[in-house]
Amino acid sequence: MLIVQKYGGTSVGDLDKIQNVADKVSKTKNANNSVVVVVSAMSGETNKLISYAHHFSKNPQKREFDLLVSSGERVTASLLAIALGQMGHKTVALTGRQAGIYTDDVHTSARINKIDRTKIESHLSENKIVIVAGFQGITSSGDISTLGRGGSDLTAVAIAGAIEANLCEIYTDVDGIYTTDPRIEPKARKIEKISYEEMLELASLGAKVLQNRSVELAKKLNINLVTRNSFNNNEGTLITKEDNIMEKPLVSGIALDKDQARVTLRGVKDEPGIAAKIFTTLSDKNINVDMIIQNIGHDGTTNLGFTVVQKDISKTKKIIKKLHPSEVMEFDDKIVKVSVVGVGMKSHSGVASQAFSALSNKKINIQMISTSEIKISMVISQKWGEKAVKALHKAYKLDK
Ligand code: ASP
Ligand code: MG
Repeated sequence: MLIVQKYGGTSVGDLDKIQNVADKVSKTKNANNSVVVVVSAMSGETNKLISYAHHFSKNPQKREFDLLVSSGERVTASLLAIALGQMGHKTVALTGRQAGIYTDDVHTSARINKIDRTKIESHLSENKIVIVAGFQGITSSGDISTLGRGGSDLTAVAIAGAIEANLCEIYTDVDGIYTTDPRIEPKARKIEKISYEEMLELASLGAKVLQNRSVELAKKLNINLVTRNSFNNNEGTLITKEDNIMEKPLVSGIALDKDQARVTLRGVKDEPGIAAKIFTTLSDKNINVDMIIQNIGHDGTTNLGFTVVQKDISKTKKIIKKLHPSEVMEFDDKIVKVSVVGVGMKSHSGVASQAFSALSNKKINIQMISTSEIKISMVISQKWGEKAVKALHKAYKLDK
């Protein structure tokens, strides 16, 4: 098989851990596989480099910033190659440029335009283990670019796509994706298989495991992703297309988003174009609006409610004041959003009512509801967040 393995910062966090990775890679190679390994920087390293830059400037030149922060991955790639060489393997460590990863010119959050697969493939054909420094590429002007935080996942998925690997394994320090946050519900179980769409909706559960952009890319390129723990041999979670999942669970997971705030506008003129004006202005200013509720109008006015992420509250306030100085505007940041996600909802009714009953049994008031084909989201008071997660987890028997 042709396998891409990516090891995150905690998996290569010190020299012993790099040896542990070398042992795992060696085993994979010895089992008659071709292996490309993508590595992150040692944990904490990227943050350290960023803080060094900020020591001198709040706003460092982006080109130089990329050159700086890309170095963390080069350290681990080289060290892993040296460790594997010592074990008798033929290896080659590559930077993004050497691996043929071409990006656009947007420093610090570049997009991969193309991967020249011949570079990696020629090394593989010489029976080498190819080790690629994650998170980086080269711009059209030959400068080093980086792919945004967590970008090594993206490197791995993009390479897996380019060389048509059979499998892309993402190694971290947890066993996989769980039905909910185990710190909230200790009965949370590891999910065996999950679709790309569900994973994207459950982003907050996977946040420390997988960069969201890499899941989007895996979906686009149809790459089977497996997240696994580099410190044990447990099975991990397969992220794949829905058709590959035979027994579709009704609900796959429960996510809790604590980062939302609710905005209510009272006395909004009930006429065509008002919502368009408000939400176009907000989106032009890069404010992501999530749930929206508009009531049926009364006496020519209506109420409009929506949620934004907390850091956008003051920006939102300013924008709305400018647009509609006369309206009554309320903000509540003591709310959370709980979401129930599952592809099985598409073909089953009653999933939503089960969620509402589970919360009402716990006397939890639901302030806003929104649904999509595979998700039900509810805004509730912050103080009930964890209780709601537990109640929903139990209601859908996710602990069984
Ligand atoms: N080292 C980079 C970061 O910390 C990229 C990565 O680890 O994926 O964001
Ligand atoms: Mg990561």
